[in-house]
Amino acid sequence: MFADEKISSSGVDDVNTNICRYCYKEIQDRDELITASSWFRVRPYHYRCFELLEQDTRTIAGAWTPVNGRTGLVTVVLMGILSVVMFTTDILGGIGDLIGVLSLYPVVLRILSYFIYEMRLPKYVENKRR
Ligand SMILES: [Zn+2]
Repeated sequence: MFADEKISSSGVDDVNTNICRYCYKEIQDRDELITASSWFRVRPYHYRCFELLEQDTRTIAGAWTPVNGRTGLVTVVLMGILSVVMFTTDILGGIGDLIGVLSLYPVVLRILSYFIYEMRLPKYVENKRR
């Protein structure tokens, strides 16, 4: 149906930030929000739509990885720690610094996701408009 969603090269859109990029309906609370990243793009989806998206794009390179939620949090914490270790020690020298920068990437995405999408949404809406 909406499988031919245009995958643009632009980054984060400023307008309609809480519109699901899969079904183009409003995302009403954080409960149904999944922010997903692919390279340096972060997009909001309903979690149901995200499952459909994953099925759609399984064969396409650059699949979307969820940023928020529990999986995302674990990644962020681990990467944050790794990054700090690499910057404050000399374990791997220059390569260590590079790893430190790379491991900051999911952390930055997580912060972006929070400020751009999650902060504007209520945590949970009892009676969602369908
Ligand atoms: Zn949706």
